[in-house]
Amino acid sequence: MNRTPPLVPGATLGVLGGGQLGRMMALAARRMGFRICVLDRDARCPTGQFADDVVVGTLDDLASARTVAERSAVVTLDTEHVPAELLEQVAAICPVRPAPSVLATIQDRAVQKRFLDAQGRPQARWAPVGSPAELEAALAAIPRPAILKARRAGYDGKGQIRLEPGGDALAAWRSIGEPPAVLEALVPFVREVSVILARAMDGELRVYPLAENVHRRHILHTTRAPAPMPDERRDRALALARTIAVALDHVGVMAVELFELADGALLVNEIAPRTHNSGHYTYGACATTQFEQHVRAVCGLPLGDARAFTGAVMVNLIGDLWANGEPPWQHVLARPEARLHLYGKLLPAPGRKMGHVVLLDDDTDRALATAEDLVARLQT
Ligand code: AMP
Repeated sequence: MNRTPPLVPGATLGVLGGGQLGRMMALAARRMGFRICVLDRDARCPTGQFADDVVVGTLDDLASARTVAERSAVVTLDTEHVPAELLEQVAAICPVRPAPSVLATIQDRAVQKRFLDAQGRPQARWAPVGSPAELEAALAAIPRPAILKARRAGYDGKGQIRLEPGGDALAAWRSIGEPPAVLEALVPFVREVSVILARAMDGELRVYPLAENVHRRHILHTTRAPAPMPDERRDRALALARTIAVALDHVGVMAVELFELADGALLVNEIAPRTHNSGHYTYGACATTQFEQHVRAVCGLPLGDARAFTGAVMVNLIGDLWANGEPPWQHVLARPEARLHLYGKLLPAPGRKMGHVVLLDDDTDRALATAEDLVARLQT
């Protein structure tokens, strides 16, 4: 039984990392009357623009993280890449939610995969790679094509390289800087889906409708929710994510990305112990957004209703769309079902997530077509 008193509006939430997830969390928190203190190396970061207080520093700087903790009633994160050892030290000052132990399990791909194996959860075959000899042993166990992924700090395909049969695997590993890595079998998936859920301090769980994801160049392109899927398979996906959240004793929002195979099998791709790009559709489509849900969970408050009132499609807006200057937003704003979200990033670099559009439409096939049409119009 959790007896920690909940944090009530007026309390300050510390956020480590000032990206777009922190920004949308800050918007939800401030609407509810909470205060936000964010740590980022740039005071003008997306979250900083909506924070009460910004501490400028890097995410591995203990002194800066301690300053945030001293000013906050609870500390949470917008990225899983804050070192767990640092979080342990922060937790001596104020509660960190999710707990540093959750981050320790998630932020290293090898530890995450061992955890999933120990829990008996299905995932791609994998082997650790820490030396040329280990790489050779991994290649003997896992036939190519395969993917070599850095154990830490990778996202959106960064720190990853695909190994083709007959290629020079050692040179490939060197080309990504020879980091401690894992070799993963290439999964012949027919579809990618994700489960977004929230878990409260007392163990209460709320699960959002299953999301279907399409990636382009390793970056999420569209999410459709609910994902059209037979009930049994969908329930299996949701149950798999629930058991993972419980086994981790997670508190907050969590995303579990899954590969769906032709025979209906579901393999865990990766776990994100935070709000997630594929959960952006909840803002507009659901009674409680993933961001408000995260605030509620880390404050020890009751969770909100995760029910969706409409189908939805989310399409990411990547920096490439800014090649010819500011995109013509009137094409988005002219559509009554469209919601535009921009993250306030100052530099629209290629491959950088700059914003997204959520289309609220029960006909999600139509919404997917609209999303493609909008992206084409924004490119011009
Ligand atoms: P990750 O950062 O590991 O989620 O990888 C980003 C994307 O790369 C995934 O969403 C997939 O589209 C693709 N990918 C990653 N790992 C694999 C794999 N083992 N087999 C096939 N595709 C993969």
